[in-house]
Amino acid sequence: MGNLYKENELSQRPTWDEYFLMLAKLAATRSTCLAFPVGAVIVKNKQVVATGYNGSPSGSAHCTAQGYCYPDLSSCDASKSMPSRAVHAEANAIAQAAKHGIATNGASIYVTLEPCLSCLKLIISAGIKEVYYETPFNTGDSNIVRDSFISEDLVIVKQIELTESTLQRAVGFLLNPTSVATEEISLSSAYFNDKV
Ligand SMILES: [Zn+2]
Ligand SMILES: [Zn+2]
Repeated sequence: MGNLYKENELSQRPTWDEYFLMLAKLAATRSTCLAFPVGAVIVKNKQVVATGYNGSPSGSAHCTAQGYCYPDLSSCDASKSMPSRAVHAEANAIAQAAKHGIATNGASIYVTLEPCLSCLKLIISAGIKEVYYETPFNTGDSNIVRDSFISEDLVIVKQIELTESTLQRAVGFLLNPTSVATEEISLSSAYFNDKV
């Protein structure tokens, strides 16, 4: 029975892609601009080297605290009238790497929202080769520019998603104390104890 539990447990482990996307989703919880919560994680050789989230530049007032991007606006819905104050999550992650002298060349980035063109250009120039995102963002002409970079082999851009079982597992871990013995472990311990 112990082995059966172990197999189930192993099959529930998130893939590396899921793991890093979940970390990006956690980073997004720190977003301070009300327009979009976005999180990003830069990964090199399966190691997280930098993280970022959508928010006002370091030291500037948070939109979440004042309720808007600019005093004249009633929210962060700046796209119609003024540019967003937020540094995008991907740009923040790259800036964090730069600030701490961490090379991004050859890295991958996991983002909760498909990078805008400005961020995609920054990603390419930072030497990041693979982009994995959860939610599409670009439309129309932006897609044409994005696809031209892809066809030049500058970068891979791929949408990924979490499987239902990974989501269930993660939600369970978040909602409850994580490192407690599960019923199955207790049962298998009992099983092994009986054998001893
Ligand atoms: Zn804002
Ligand atoms: Zn962006």
